Amino acid sequence: MILASTLSETLQRIENAAKAAGRPVPRLLAVSKLQPSAAIAQLAADGQHAFGENYVQEAQAKARELAGLGLEWHLIGHLQSNKAEAAATLFDWVQTVDRGKLVAALARFRPAGRPPLNVLVQVNVDDETSKHGCRPGEVDALAAAIAAEPGLALRGLMAIPTPHADIELRRPAFRRMRELFDGLAARYPSVDTLSMGMSDDFALAIGEGATMVRIGTALFGARPPKT
Ligand SMILES: *Cc1c(COP(=O)(O)O)cnc(C)c1O
Repeated sequence: MILASTLSETLQRIENAAKAAGRPVPRLLAVSKLQPSAAIAQLAADGQHAFGENYVQEAQAKARELAGLGLEWHLIGHLQSNKAEAAATLFDWVQTVDRGKLVAALARFRPAGRPPLNVLVQVNVDDETSKHGCRPGEVDALAAAIAAEPGLALRGLMAIPTPHADIELRRPAFRRMRELFDGLAARYPSVDTLSMGMSDDFALAIGEGATMVRIGTALFGARPPKT
């Protein structure tokens, strides 16, 4: 089990991994799913700005409670179409766009007057068993659909590779994601974010070019069970 460390320790580990790989230091997304608002407030007081949530209703409650803190909220869990309106209203980023229907719904429901909703295409890069994420061959069409919507900003790609117990076996998926990302960034100037790497493999993901890592357990400790 991974023990919680302080924010500054985690940031230091991220910086060390980037330096060792000769890469720019990626952004930290603190994954706060199932953690209480008080834990988020604590991390925010330490200087963390961006938080990732998996469930729309849970995020709504927390965002309400913490509204005064000016935090940036990212949806990193699977999004059902019937929650698109709530998601487009609440979040600053949606990292799990994997089908055209969702692109249209998020664009339609993004409130006028808000900045464009930042969007990542979730790619099912190597997990044949997962139902979530588009196939690599579908990225271009989805990216074009997102880029065509004024209410959405195409920022890049996200992936959750198969969690092989042998961490090194995850490397090819991270590498494939970086190739897809470079191809997309060459065509869309707005594309600057490759979201990959979690508590147990972020150093490897940074080595392969992640620009954002999503870290929960290593920051907050073990998650309480979902009720
Ligand atoms: C829960 C979750 C994370 C964080 O996982 P940890 O192993 O706790 O760091 C990252 N990304 C996604 C999509 C998640 O659902």
